[in-house]
Amino acid sequence: MRIVVDRDRCMGHAVCALMAPDLMELDDLGYNVTGEAKVEPADEALARRAAGACPEGAIAVVDAHA
Ligand code: SF4
Repeated sequence: MRIVVDRDRCMGHAVCALMAPDLMELDDLGYNVTGEAKVEPADEALARRAAGACPEGAIAVVDAHA
Protein backbone atom coordinates (compact mmCIF):
# COMPACT_ATOMS: atom_id res chain seq x y z
CA MET A 1 0.00 0.00 0.00
CA ARG A 2 0.95 3.64 -0.24
CA ILE A 3 0.14 6.80 1.64
CA VAL A 4 -0.56 10.01 -0.20
CA VAL A 5 -0.45 13.26 1.78
CA ASP A 6 -2.38 16.26 0.53
CA ARG A 7 -0.04 19.08 1.49
CA ASP A 8 -2.75 21.67 0.83
CA ARG A 9 -5.00 20.16 3.52
CA CYS A 10 -2.26 19.69 6.09
CA MET A 11 -2.50 22.17 8.98
CA GLY A 12 0.67 21.11 10.75
CA HIS A 13 -0.80 19.38 13.81
CA ALA A 14 1.95 16.75 13.66
CA VAL A 15 -0.40 14.11 15.08
CA CYS A 16 0.57 11.83 12.23
CA ALA A 17 4.26 12.00 13.06
CA LEU A 18 3.60 11.33 16.73
CA MET A 19 1.76 8.15 15.78
CA ALA A 20 4.05 7.02 12.96
CA PRO A 21 7.36 8.89 13.16
CA ASP A 22 9.11 6.54 10.76
CA LEU A 23 6.47 7.00 8.07
CA MET A 24 5.80 10.73 8.18
CA GLU A 25 8.22 13.45 7.20
CA LEU A 26 7.54 16.91 8.56
CA ASP A 27 9.14 20.21 7.71
CA ASP A 28 10.48 22.60 10.34
CA LEU A 29 7.01 24.05 10.90
CA GLY A 30 5.36 20.68 11.43
CA TYR A 31 3.74 20.35 8.04
CA ASN A 32 3.70 16.94 6.46
CA VAL A 33 5.95 16.84 3.40
CA THR A 34 5.90 13.08 2.92
CA GLY A 35 4.10 13.40 -0.39
CA GLU A 36 3.55 9.88 -1.64
CA ALA A 37 5.32 6.95 -0.03
CA LYS A 38 5.26 3.18 -0.16
CA VAL A 39 4.38 1.46 3.12
CA GLU A 40 5.85 -1.92 3.97
CA PRO A 41 3.33 -4.58 5.03
CA ALA A 42 4.59 -4.54 8.61
CA ASP A 43 3.77 -0.83 8.88
CA GLU A 44 0.34 -0.87 7.25
CA ALA A 45 -1.70 -0.89 10.47
CA LEU A 46 0.36 1.99 11.80
CA ALA A 47 -0.09 3.96 8.60
CA ARG A 48 -3.87 3.45 8.72
CA ARG A 49 -4.02 4.62 12.33
CA ALA A 50 -1.96 7.71 11.53
CA ALA A 51 -4.17 8.49 8.55
CA GLY A 52 -7.29 8.04 10.67
CA ALA A 53 -5.89 10.34 13.35
CA CYS A 54 -5.23 13.27 11.02
CA PRO A 55 -7.80 15.94 11.94
CA GLU A 56 -7.75 17.33 8.40
CA GLY A 57 -8.13 14.05 6.54
CA ALA A 58 -4.95 14.92 4.68
CA ILE A 59 -3.54 11.41 4.54
CA ALA A 60 -4.99 8.94 2.07
CA VAL A 61 -4.25 5.25 2.23
CA VAL A 62 -4.10 3.64 -1.19
CA ASP A 63 -4.11 -0.13 -1.42
CA ALA A 64 -1.67 -1.62 -3.88
CA HIS A 65 -4.39 -3.17 -5.99
CA ALA A 66 -6.47 0.01 -6.09
S1 SF4 B 1 -1.87 15.09 11.32
FE1 SF4 B 1 -2.63 15.71 9.27
S2 SF4 B 1 -2.77 17.92 9.38
FE2 SF4 B 1 -1.44 17.26 11.03
S3 SF4 B 1 0.68 17.30 10.24
FE3 SF4 B 1 -0.13 15.27 9.92
S4 SF4 B 1 -0.97 15.33 7.82
FE4 SF4 B 1 -0.77 17.42 8.52
